[in-house]
Amino acid sequence: MGVRMIYYRGNNQKVIEAVRLANLILQDDSELYARIIARESFHNTKATPAAIAKSMKTVFKTEVTEVRLYWSWWWSSAIGYFDAKKPNQVNTSKRYVNRKSTDVFELASHFVHEFVHKVDYHDADRVFGHAFRHHSKRHESAPYWIGYMAGYLLKKHYSVA
Ligand SMILES: [Zn+2]
Repeated sequence: MGVRMIYYRGNNQKVIEAVRLANLILQDDSELYARIIARESFHNTKATPAAIAKSMKTVFKTEVTEVRLYWSWWWSSAIGYFDAKKPNQVNTSKRYVNRKSTDVFELASHFVHEFVHKVDYHDADRVFGHAFRHHSKRHESAPYWIGYMAGYLLKKHYSVA
C-alpha cells in the first residue's frame, strides 16, 4: 500500500488499527470510490459524486491528517469533529473510542467521515457537508454516506471470524 496519509502518534491499539483501516479504504484503487461514483447524487450538495471522489483522492495524497484524541464533557454525545482552523487534524472523543460498542470498523468509518469534511474544506469549488441538527436525509449527505460505506466495505473485506 502507499503512504499513510492519516496518522496517529498515540498508543491506543483500537485507534492504531482503525487508522490503518481508514488508510486502506482511502487508497486510489479502493472499491469505495467505485461505490461513490455509482451514486446519482448526495443530499445537501450540488457537487457530483465523481467530483467528490476525485477530490478525496487528491487530498488523501497531498495532505496529511493527524488523528487527535480529546476528552469531551460527560454530557456531550459528540463523537468527534473537524475544525477548519486546524485542517490537518481530525478530533475524536476518547469516550467514544473507549466505548465497548465502538469497534475498529466504526472508528475507521468515523475517520473517513471527518476526512470528507476535510476534503470539503480543501475543495474550493464545491461544498458537501451535512446539516448539524438531525435531518431525515442527513445519512444521504457525502460525509455520512461515504463514512458508512467505508465502514461497511472494511467490515466486509477485513473482518476476521
Ligand atoms: Zn460530520
